[in-house]
Amino acid sequence: MSSSDRSITNSDCIVIGGGISGLITANILHQKGLQVTVLDKGKGIGGRLATRRISQEESIKGVFDYGTQYFTVENPQFQVWVDDWLKHNVIKEWCQGFREADGKPRYCGVNGTREIAKYVAKDLDVQTNIKVVEMSYDKKWLVETENKQHYQADVLVMTPPVPQSLDLLDASLIVLPLDIRFSLEKIVYHRCIAILALLEKPSNIPAPGGMVVEDNSLVWLADNYQKGISPEGYAVTLHATPNFSDYYWDSDDAEIAYKLLTSAADYLDSPVIKYQVHRWRYSLPKTFYHEPCLALSEFPLIMAGDAFVAPNIEGAVLSGIAAGTSVAQRFKVNS
Ligand SMILES: Cc1cc2nc3c(=O)[nH]c(=O)nc-3n(C[C@H](O)[C@H](O)[C@H](O)COP(=O)(O)OP(=O)(O)OC[C@H]3O[C@@H](n4cnc5c(N)ncnc54)[C@H](O)[C@@H]3O)c2cc1C
Repeated sequence: MSSSDRSITNSDCIVIGGGISGLITANILHQKGLQVTVLDKGKGIGGRLATRRISQEESIKGVFDYGTQYFTVENPQFQVWVDDWLKHNVIKEWCQGFREADGKPRYCGVNGTREIAKYVAKDLDVQTNIKVVEMSYDKKWLVETENKQHYQADVLVMTPPVPQSLDLLDASLIVLPLDIRFSLEKIVYHRCIAILALLEKPSNIPAPGGMVVEDNSLVWLADNYQKGISPEGYAVTLHATPNFSDYYWDSDDAEIAYKLLTSAADYLDSPVIKYQVHRWRYSLPKTFYHEPCLALSEFPLIMAGDAFVAPNIEGAVLSGIAAGTSVAQRFKVNS
């Protein structure tokens, strides 16, 4: 890639991926006065913090969380962010347990989980529909996107699921030290097929509207109406088990929907007005890197995401914090 003869957007740091880990990193760096550009290939931000609307005429409007469903808090560093989200009415307590209450809050977005990402990103320069296809480093990073835009920065943070980051490094002919490459290649993810079903009547899912299913095909059912994010539509999210998702990955949507909606029929207890199928190729990491982020010493490249800590929002946020701290150290802006 040559950087001559074209307009290039400059910043201190480019973050690839506008999921929660990338946004937390960008937010931290922005607060420290650095110029950060976040690039995401998705139509909207949030990555696996995903909320979608499906409507039927004017009166029925379903809102679905179809990736992350809820989260808990263990780590005090994460608690700081959660307190801010609570204070600004971005999240709320959904319940304190699904089968029975255990006193531990389960939080969800007041208007869906994607709103958490939007709130974290509100002061940031985030560009969506921008897929990074190539990167090169020569004193500065030069990043090329699918639509032939170019971005330049001193430091690069990569937060896509690890196999996607490795593909991008390969396409860019960037070679990692062998031991690191070996560790990263061991990180694999479950697949998850999700169904978003808009119902004619309220579901039969017991209060508080979320349940783990012990079934060969289904692992989770959530009633977004009871959850409070879909007041104008009976919107139910179904998550398939990893085995089902692997087996039926290439099947057509109608077959997948038939099988999963039939398995859940007793809990749905209603005709389905409309449905959509979503395939999460990288749902939850099964294996993890041994540090909360990877900061290379050879060149200013940092990798982060849930696979560096734990398979949940908390893990992704903690990795994002670690990446932000690491970049800040490189710029000596820690105070
Ligand atoms: C079905 C499902 C259910 C889940 N349930 C829960 C739950 O109940 N509780 C919980 O805490 N967690 C849950 N999780 C996990 C949680 O969603 C993740 O741990 C977390 O969102 C990961 O955030 P991240 O920023 O690391 O990655 P991601 O959210 O995957 O973000 C990576 C981003 O990188 C972007 N990207 C990739 N390649 C490129 C490229 N070449 N150029 C530009 N952008 C690129 C992607 O578009 C994406 O937005 C669930 C996940 C799934 C899929």
